[in-house]
Amino acid sequence: MTARTLTILGATGSIGASTLDLVRRQRHKWRVVALTANGNATELAALAREFGAEIAVVADEGALPALREALAGSGIEAAAGPGALVEAASRPADLTIAAIVGCAGLAPTMAAIEQGALVGLANKEALVSAGDVMTAAVARSGATLLPVDSEHNAIFQCLAGNDPADVLAITLTASGGPFREWSAAQLAAATPAQAVKHPNWSMGAKISVDSATMMNKGLELIEAFHLFPVGLDALRIIIHPQSIIHSMVEYRDGSTLAQLGPSDMRVPIASTLAWPRRMDTPCAPLNLAALGQLTFHAPDELRFPATRIARAAAEAGGAAPAVLNAANEVAVAAFLAGHIGFTRIAADVENVLARGLPPAPASLEDVLAVDAEARIRARELLELA
Ligand code: NDP
Repeated sequence: MTARTLTILGATGSIGASTLDLVRRQRHKWRVVALTANGNATELAALAREFGAEIAVVADEGALPALREALAGSGIEAAAGPGALVEAASRPADLTIAAIVGCAGLAPTMAAIEQGALVGLANKEALVSAGDVMTAAVARSGATLLPVDSEHNAIFQCLAGNDPADVLAITLTASGGPFREWSAAQLAAATPAQAVKHPNWSMGAKISVDSATMMNKGLELIEAFHLFPVGLDALRIIIHPQSIIHSMVEYRDGSTLAQLGPSDMRVPIASTLAWPRRMDTPCAPLNLAALGQLTFHAPDELRFPATRIARAAAEAGGAAPAVLNAANEVAVAAFLAGHIGFTRIAADVENVLARGLPPAPASLEDVLAVDAEARIRARELLELA
């Protein structure tokens, strides 16, 4: 059997590490083409050496000397900068895992899509921002987009073999995050350290904060809107604190299909790596008797307005989701840096959206321009230098 070729954009992150953990267990099945990071040259070089990558790329050009030094004598190419990231993502690979955090991953993800092969999408911000521009590129290139996000991977599995026309509703489950039971007063005083402590999942800092504000579910709603052609009205959100049911699809005959599994991203990543088959993972199987009960309740959009704001952005369409995402990225970074309080994140995103929208983006360049402009407006609003 010939090895399949694999590129990981964002190899040093949480999704990158989970992907490489699975690849490490089946080394003979994979040949690694490109691994990328932002500035973590030491970790990237170690991974590139371990997996015998063709090329390692850091987005931050300041990290190139350290990357070169760490790769000296290995024969592995080293490169840096946004152009090098896109070049690496354009190198033929049977599967690319798009796992950069934020809209910074959009251009390389689009380059991977243009190859027309398989792209495992974790980088939800890229699809939220680009929307139709990305789905049109997928259709044009013949690429297959496999959702890595656990909810969308669950939906993808529950839709297999069915006609979307028979779907009544898709329900995204949400853990509710670490502040699920906090009062409005407690939320106003929440700290970054508290926000990144997710009760069920171990993830990067940005998505952990998004889970705490529920903006993660808002971004996922927009992601689902683009991935699954059932319309916004058929997309619902329910709080399910145990994170065992990862999402559900309800059909017109009264059947609801759900995907269950442990809260470990290696499960949806394994389903992406092995698709359309299955592979072993080191994850312990579910023990439902030990769990005892699975509970559900409706989201509270008064304490957590992000899902309402994201749904409104999806309804508005055009540039709104890209503006929402850019403003959220700026606000989350400001919160993590201690510049603003927790409840200002969603409030500022809504304020940036309320200041008017640019025309709908029609190309990758348009999306990047909308993103850049929205970041400036968000920084002004937040009074960041
Ligand atoms: P991490 O913060 O753990 O990792 C992010 C990765 O992207 C790192 O490799 C980082 O490099 C790289 N990176 C960061 N900024 C840039 C940049 N400006 N340009 C190029 N590369 C960059 O994030 P996660 O792994 O948690 O999340 C990755 C994506 O997957 C996000 O879109 C998230 O929403 C999504 N996702 C994550 C889940 C999870 O469980 N973690 C679950 C579902 C979706 P460096 O190490 O050098 O900083």
